[in-house]
Amino acid sequence: MLTGAPKGTKDMMPDQAYKWHYIEKAFEDICRRYGFTEIRTPEFEHTELFKRGVGDTTDIVQKEMYTFEDYGGRSITLRPEGTSPVVRAYTEHKLYAGVQPSKFYYNISCFRYEKPQSGRLRAFHQFGIETFGTLDMAADAEIISLAHDFIEEMGITDVELRINSVGCPQCRGRHREALREFLKPRYNELCDTCKARYEKNPMRILDCKSPVCQEIVKGAPLMLDYLCDDCREAFEELKENLDAMGIEYTVDPGIVRGLDYYTKTAFEFVTTKIGAQGTVCGGGRYDHLVEEIGGPSTPGVGFGLGKERLLLTMESCGVELPQPQGPDVFIVTMGREAKAAGARLLRELRQAGLAAETDIMGRNMKKQLKHANAIKAVKAVIIGDEELSKNSITVKDMETSEQISVPMDKVKEVLTVNR
Ligand code: ATP
Ligand code: MG
Repeated sequence: MLTGAPKGTKDMMPDQAYKWHYIEKAFEDICRRYGFTEIRTPEFEHTELFKRGVGDTTDIVQKEMYTFEDYGGRSITLRPEGTSPVVRAYTEHKLYAGVQPSKFYYNISCFRYEKPQSGRLRAFHQFGIETFGTLDMAADAEIISLAHDFIEEMGITDVELRINSVGCPQCRGRHREALREFLKPRYNELCDTCKARYEKNPMRILDCKSPVCQEIVKGAPLMLDYLCDDCREAFEELKENLDAMGIEYTVDPGIVRGLDYYTKTAFEFVTTKIGAQGTVCGGGRYDHLVEEIGGPSTPGVGFGLGKERLLLTMESCGVELPQPQGPDVFIVTMGREAKAAGARLLRELRQAGLAAETDIMGRNMKKQLKHANAIKAVKAVIIGDEELSKNSITVKDMETSEQISVPMDKVKEVLTVNR
């Protein structure tokens, strides 16, 4: 074999496809119920979008992006996350000038150069939601509620919603100072990335994955204690909204989301069932991102939900999804004329909406029936030259082995009625 799949990628094999279809259909459906419509953006963007949109003190921008120069000399990056491209499209197409709020969902692949492990891939997939144009905490509560209901509808029982506020540029300044003060005595022990963050954006240090940095930030000043009146009120409103909807949560002052432009609300849905990479869904508010990308000041709030992690969690919760059925009909033929009649019938049945198959391997009749059995066909239609001349063919129920004789021109009727 020339080569295997690249590290950190996973083939979705056909015998797993039904699971992906199941979650995709379910996500589409819940988005419909919540009033979100789909948006699709390209797999790659200009690199500067992510530098600005995700923030250049983040892990994503500092070490995880798949960036290359195209033949036109442009710096291009494979999409590492869904929010910045949607913000770019929203701004570019001037959707801010239309009716607000704007509510979108997406179903995308993402690319990050990470250390692959269970639940952490280099090419992975996300569902996401973005709401633009409202500062009302009802919008934050709405998307949290959507994620909550979706996760619950997927049969996941062990998951915790954690919420926090990361404040706004006004109140973050004071917290940043307090944080620097706190970290100063141990500055030299910080990893190199965090040393740089110390100056630019020390809050990011709280999110560092290095065990040393994680130990150093224990007991660090909490953003929650530094919120300005506006942010504190917003956080109270968020909690009231969630309480009113009966959604349980815990306040976790340690949550700092991956993007630099998050403001106020930050949240995660975390499970203990799939090991260290337990964050199935993460999101928050980003009231300055549209402006940062060149649009008019427009608030936004959204989340990303990892499809691989969702499926892993469903599996560990013992969720069993309906297995795909075999074809409705397998047409078994013997002889030249029968084969031609079978081909005609096959097309008719498919056009009538049935899942129908026939032999394309040149097998004899016995082997055709064996194959029909192997692919779990519900019925077999058996056509032989002789039967054809009597204008009567056999319909066999593959489960009960019961056989009936049916005139050729009634076969379609019989099969569609009994489906
Ligand atoms: P983590 O803390 O696990 O690194 P993150 O903060 O980088 O997550 P986000 O950028 O918020 O994650 O992405 C939203 C969701 O996408 C995550 O909650 C997770 O379910 C999924 N996700 C993120 N990175 C990966 C990855 N490398 N492989 C698989 N799923 C991922
Ligand atoms: Mg990450």
